[in-house]
Amino acid sequence: MATTLNKDFAFPSNAALFLDFDGTLVGFQDNPYSVHLANSEISCLLNLNDKLDGALAIISGRDIVDLSKRVPIALWRIGNHGLYSAAPDTPPPNDLPKFSSDIRRKIDTVMSQVPEIWIEDKGPVLAIHHRKKPALGLAISQAISPLLAPLKTHIIQVGNCVVEIKPASANKGIGLRKQMTRDPFLGRIPIMIGDDTTDEEGFIAAKKLGGFGIKIGHGPTQAKYNLLNIQDLYSFLRLPT
Ligand SMILES: [Mg+2]
Repeated sequence: MATTLNKDFAFPSNAALFLDFDGTLVGFQDNPYSVHLANSEISCLLNLNDKLDGALAIISGRDIVDLSKRVPIALWRIGNHGLYSAAPDTPPPNDLPKFSSDIRRKIDTVMSQVPEIWIEDKGPVLAIHHRKKPALGLAISQAISPLLAPLKTHIIQVGNCVVEIKPASANKGIGLRKQMTRDPFLGRIPIMIGDDTTDEEGFIAAKKLGGFGIKIGHGPTQAKYNLLNIQDLYSFLRLPT
């Protein structure tokens, strides 16, 4: 059970901060391509990045190219659930492997029976969004599972109104651990902040490296702390370090 952070919480000055994007730094919208940070939120993140001497990364399930359009390029960006990263002031990789077109066609056929979903290509990851049918996650997972047998290295992950088919190595915990071996993250205390099932692996990895997780919202979690909502997160991030 996570403990709710209060205003007296001491934010470690030698922290390395890993921030999920959707549902953590920005609210959900029906169209994820219309989501963006407000100017005040960008300022908050850049200030914090300076205070942490650059040990701040946005870590998201979004494709690294798409993520790089939505967060300042001055920040580390880790996309595709930890698979690919881009250092500050460098463009994201643009030659990602693609999801199997053969299996994609089969999934398209099955999913064409389900209204109001849409399928997003994210390099080797496929995301089936069902925001207008929130209860369908398990049913979608069960419908596509038999199609995935040829993809021996892929797993299904059911998130908040999205079912994703991804390589097992696409894992925010793996992404966080890899990032902690790089300057300026090396030797710092990792703090992972996120809202969804995909962030749990990041919470666990942060804990194993001597840090902790903060979950946005309630519910079962491996995070040590929680915050009620995105507004409370920005209040926390603006605290002096
Ligand atoms: Mg999220």
